[in-house]
Amino acid sequence: MALKEIVKVPNKVLITKAEIALFDAETKSLAEDLIQTLNATTKPKGAGLAAPQIGESKRVFIAKKFSKDPSDSEKEIETNFIFINPEILSHSEVTDINWEGCLSIPDTYGQLERFKRVKVKSFDLNGNEFTLKAEGFFARVIQHEMDHINGVLFTSKVIGKTLTEKELDELQAKETQVE
Ligand SMILES: [Zn+2]
Repeated sequence: MALKEIVKVPNKVLITKAEIALFDAETKSLAEDLIQTLNATTKPKGAGLAAPQIGESKRVFIAKKFSKDPSDSEKEIETNFIFINPEILSHSEVTDINWEGCLSIPDTYGQLERFKRVKVKSFDLNGNEFTLKAEGFFARVIQHEMDHINGVLFTSKVIGKTLTEKELDELQAKETQVE
């Protein structure tokens, strides 16, 4: 297991459609590296990481699901989901528009339209197939990471212009005041 450097734009691996992963020791170690590297991110803290972002052109990614701790509503539990060779089986008609950023594109935020719910078919590290339904932020993270393994960056789908973190903070502070 190793902490990897996150590949930043411009880099060809980020815009290349990744290859099918095998269910072998190499993919297991890749998944471990992704989890360790994602967990080490702080400012900004990432919610997902795809193999191309650590330089491996494979169809593997991690997406974090955040949920409330049932015994302590103040606490948030985060669970790492490992997706190997995933596919989106179906999605809701309903979409929503929200802000996204990317660990491979520093200090850049933009608004994107994503499906509110997705149903995903994937494999685990042992090659067992599973399906999963996701909604809200978790569904958004999965769609962002699916794009990564297809060589698509969020900046190609942004509605309007991108903002820096400082500009986004200022905008959100202003919006909070209005409410
Ligand atoms: Zn990203």
